[in-house]
Amino acid sequence: MTWPKWEQIDYDLDKDFYPEEVRYPLAKALSLLPEEVVEAVIENYIFFIIEMGGSYLSFKDKRLEGKKGIIHLDYSLFKKNSMEIAFTVAHEVAHALGDDAIEINLNMTLEEQTKPEIKADKLAVEWLSKHYEKESLIPMCGYWKNRTLKKIMEEDRKRRSKNLKAKRDKKR
Ligand SMILES: [Zn+2]
Repeated sequence: MTWPKWEQIDYDLDKDFYPEEVRYPLAKALSLLPEEVVEAVIENYIFFIIEMGGSYLSFKDKRLEGKKGIIHLDYSLFKKNSMEIAFTVAHEVAHALGDDAIEINLNMTLEEQTKPEIKADKLAVEWLSKHYEKESLIPMCGYWKNRTLKKIMEEDRKRRSKNLKAKRDKKR
């Protein structure tokens, strides 16, 4: 596997939408992903980051021509540490390349809704594990957080049924 140079990415992202101070951290985060992933994302998607307030983007904008989608990143992300930036960028890139058209509807189960999230988290960990310890990447996964939440809910359910049983036993 080869990794691209951040200078080249910075050059290739020239027409994307982001404030000047984000240029380096964004290019740096992308340079941690496999080269073919970066090539595919730059060719087919556009990064859209706005500093604050609002911004208007027309579908007629020449820079959107032939693109499959827009990857929006929050400006505040770039105030975080480089691993957090890298993870979020990798996660969104994974959604883009997986063509996850996220169209949540009321008929979807929670499992169906979280499926693309788990997939994107897994890919992000896989790509970035070449640069960071897996142990430090995993806590960033929404999937991991969901599992923690599930555990808490399970414990809570057990505790409540135990209390209920104790109450019933008292009555006897
Ligand atoms: Zn996601």
